[in-house]
Order: sequence, then structure tokens, then C-alpha cells
Amino acid sequence: RAKSQGRNGFQFFDAALRDEIQTRARLGNELRTAIASSGLTLHFQPLYSMPANRISACEALVRWHHPTHGMVPPDQFVGLAEENGLIHDLGEWVLRAACQEAADWPEQVKIAVNVSPIQLRNPRFLSIVEGALACSGLAPHRLEIEITENIFVQNSAANRHILQQLGRIGCSIVLDDFGTGYSSLGYLRSFQFQKIKIDRSFVQELPERSASGIIQAIISLAQSMDIPITAEGVETHDQWAHLNDLGCNQVQGFLLGRPQPSDVIRQSILSYA
Ligand code: C2E
Ligand code: MG
Ligand code: MG
Ligand code: MG
Repeated sequence: RAKSQGRNGFQFFDAALRDEIQTRARLGNELRTAIASSGLTLHFQPLYSMPANRISACEALVRWHHPTHGMVPPDQFVGLAEENGLIHDLGEWVLRAACQEAADWPEQVKIAVNVSPIQLRNPRFLSIVEGALACSGLAPHRLEIEITENIFVQNSAANRHILQQLGRIGCSIVLDDFGTGYSSLGYLRSFQFQKIKIDRSFVQELPERSASGIIQAIISLAQSMDIPITAEGVETHDQWAHLNDLGCNQVQGFLLGRPQPSDVIRQSILSYA
């Protein structure tokens, strides 16, 4: 507003900032309530092995069933939870709910759970994972922990230590969204990942030559290190065929299946696992 320029401009920005802070505080309180009183839910997206075309895993993706805003996607509240510390309770709920669900699936189907770098810094994180496994009875080798590569901005001893401990109890560690953000080949050398997921931004540019070249390079790098590769965000049959030709091991995307509530995914698993 013109009126709010000059000296009064400060008031305007003050007010805008105060509104923003109040909105985030209110959202934070609502999220706290949601975590404590079953306001969160998980959807599950299938991951298909290539070339066999079987469901070999499903990824748990959190949603907030908000009383007035409806189904809120994670991009709109995971960041907030990371800022205000709720990510620890949220993440523990996700781990427990995901393991519980997967314990009923056929043995060969794994469950992938996204974990925030903030969670890894929690000294209780290992026991939280052990608790979720013990409660559900899920075998540790069926749990894949997905970490986005930007955690390795700090390629720190502490990060490597917790990942090693998780590996020691039998969980798999997956490098998510590979190729974006702050990736460095050094990370691949300093920690042994059980799987790498190529970010969907590359997949969606297929069959463009530069994207194809990058994916080919990532796959041959991974192969030389004996690490299986997943491609996320596969939306067309052309992309699928291309990835198959390049030797990709697993695919995930709307072409094969969208994230679905647990009862729906259970039906898919029964037909395709
Ligand atoms: P992500 O781990 O990379 O998960 C994949 C995201 O891509 C999901 O979005 C999924 O719905 C979407 N996706 C899958 N296939 C396709 C496709 O073919 N095309 C397109 N356009 N999108 C596709 P979603 O569920 O909104 O989750 C977004 C991000 O939020 C996730 O990215 C993950 O980083 C984070 N997230 C989700 N659940 C959790 C959680 O429980 N804890 C934490 N810390 N983060 C989570
Ligand atoms: Mg993920
Ligand atoms: Mg991803
Ligand atoms: Mg992603």
C-alpha cells in the first residue's frame, strides 16, 4: 500500500512479520495437536523392481489431515516441524506407523521412511528406530531410511556415526534426491549407501540428451560401487523404457502408482509383489 511507505513502511512490515509469526505459531500448535491425536496419516507409494516389474518396496509419505485445510502435503509442514522441533515427535510417529503397517505385508516388500537430518542429530534416534522395529516386529532389513543428500552438507563424523549404527542393526540407508542440492562424490566414498535415488528433476527431462547422459553417468558410477539405483518421478512409458535400457534397478512414479492410503496399497501389493 502506498500509505505504508516511508516511515510507516516499518509499521507495515512489522505488522506483516507479526502476522507471519502468529500464523506459524498457530500452525505449529495445530500440528502439535495433530501429532498427539491421530491427525496425521501415511500414504504409501510403490517402488517397482526392474525388469521384473514387482513391488519390492513402498515409501511412506506423511499427510496432515487438517480440520479446515483438508489434506496438507508434507512440503507445507515438515519445514515448520524442523524449525520448531516438532520433527522429532512427528518423525517418531511416522517410523512407528510405517513399521506397523509394513509388518503385515509380504516378507519381500520393504518400507522406505523419510528421515530429516534434524532427527539424526537426536541422541535418542537409534533407540527410536529400535523401538519402532521392536513394537511392530518388523525385521530391520525391511526398513529403508531415506535421507536427502543435503544432510551431507555436514559430512560430519556425527552423521557418519549414526548412519553406521543404523546399518549395524540391519537397516538400509538410502540417499534420496540424488543429483540436486549439495551433492558431492565425496559423500559416496565416505559412506556406504545401500541405494541411491535419482531425483525426479532428471527423470522428468528424459529423453532429453543431457538428462539421459547424467542418469547414465550416475548409474555407471553406482554400478561400479555396487549400489542399486532407483529413479523417482517416472510419469511416462518413454521414461520407464529409457531407464530400463540404462540399467536402472527400481522405479517409482505416477506411471506405476501414486501415493495411496494403506488399504489401497495393500491391494496393489497383493497383486504385484
Ligand atoms: P521425496 O522423499 O522425494 O518423495 C517423493 C515425492 O515425490 C512425494 O511427494 C511423491 O508424491 C512425489 N512423487 C512421486 N512420484 C511422482 C511423479 O511421478 N511425479 C511427481 N510430480 N511427483 C511424484 P510428497 O508426498 O508431497 O512428499 C514431498 C517430500 O516431503 C518428500 O520427497 C520428502 O522429502 C518429504 N516427506 C514426506 N514424508 C515425510 C516424512 O514422513 N518425514 C520427512 N522428514 N519428510 C517427509
Ligand atoms: Mg523419499
Ligand atoms: Mg526423493
Ligand atoms: Mg524428491
